[in-house]
Amino acid sequence: MHKTKKCRRCHKTLSVEKFVDTGGEKNPKGHYCQACHRKRIEKWHRAALARERSYIEKLKILYGACWRHCAPPELFHAMLSDERDVCPYCGIRFSDVVPAPFNESPVHIDHMDPLDKGGEHSIRNAVLCCGPCNIKKGKRSFVHWLEMLEPKFRQLARAIYVEKHGHPPEAFIEGGPTARRAQELETVLYQTEEELKMQYPEPQETGPSCKRAMKTRTKQSPPEGREGGPGGQG
Ligand SMILES: [Zn+2]
Ligand SMILES: [Zn+2]
Repeated sequence: MHKTKKCRRCHKTLSVEKFVDTGGEKNPKGHYCQACHRKRIEKWHRAALARERSYIEKLKILYGACWRHCAPPELFHAMLSDERDVCPYCGIRFSDVVPAPFNESPVHIDHMDPLDKGGEHSIRNAVLCCGPCNIKKGKRSFVHWLEMLEPKFRQLARAIYVEKHGHPPEAFIEGGPTARRAQELETVLYQTEEELKMQYPEPQETGPSCKRAMKTRTKQSPPEGREGGPGGQG
């Protein structure tokens, strides 16, 4: 006979086999049953999505149509994880990836065009992938990385790139300035939409990561240029 115990959340008496630890792994010593754990994860996820949607509204106030270029991927983990639950580069299910020791997450945020080569620090340029693929990819250009993938995933990864960027990976120009507004934004996004609208009556669409700016990349001005940046407002 299986031993039974009571779940601390739903108070049902269940077989110890049904219990999990805080990470969701089966563990007869866990306090909560599998079903309760799953519900809790779903609740967190919904809360995260709601928070991320509010970020988007604020980014739109700040950057108007360019908001996607300015959305730091680490603030949109729930949305990125909703894109797919498998690694786009090797097909492993994220739930099956074994985390490397001391690595907090088996799933990494990958900058498709690497930051090192001027890739954008934005959700447009980010996908979740498994840790091993991310490490293997390193600072390779996306075109080079595609060559290393199995044909099936080469096709998939290219399609994802095109969908997210709006152009093929060959069109990426290396060495452009990288917008890294994450730090600046983290303080901005704590404010309410009303406060932001007061501060930014017009979208601040200058900066290197605007489409318009990318076209005028040759006549370069400093990446941080808020006023009179390549988008040319001032
Ligand atoms: Zn329960
Ligand atoms: Zn992978």
